[in-house]
Amino acid sequence: MTEILLKYFRTKQQEVQSEKRYDTQCPFCSMQCKMQLLEQTIVTRKKYMTIGKDNPTSEGRLCIKGMNAHQHALHKDRIKYPLLKKNGEFVRISWEEALSHIKENFTKIQAEDGVNALSVYGSASISNEEAYLLGKFARVALKTKYIDYNGRLCMSAAASAASQT
Ligand code: SF4
Repeated sequence: MTEILLKYFRTKQQEVQSEKRYDTQCPFCSMQCKMQLLEQTIVTRKKYMTIGKDNPTSEGRLCIKGMNAHQHALHKDRIKYPLLKKNGEFVRISWEEALSHIKENFTKIQAEDGVNALSVYGSASISNEEAYLLGKFARVALKTKYIDYNGRLCMSAAASAASQT
């Protein structure tokens, strides 16, 4: 009897109750590979899979970063609201409090050490429009001359590691 019940529940655990498909694209590099994210509900848990879609640059292939890109958005440890360290512990604060804290500290740093004491670090994952706004924010709002993006650190390092291996 126990064997039959176990077999029944094991089979049940493999059954897909519902399935959703989302058309999306990888945000990680300039290839911007197209993909579909497949979300399957099995009992109470969700299972995800990525399927590459045809596009002129990578012809439907995805690299390992793209295959796992969704984990950034869905990970349980993802930070979804501002946190401030108080007495050694991170505590949740409002967006208003976070922005005023940032403004206060940015103003103080620039008053003490000059406008170029702050720098802006962009991302290969942002859109052209966001990159434009980031540039404006650096040059017009902060007035800093230091602006760069993660390609200098992450992709250059990856390229030299790849060529050496
Ligand atoms: S799947 Fe890989 S190659 Fe394609 S956009 Fe993402 S990081 Fe770039």
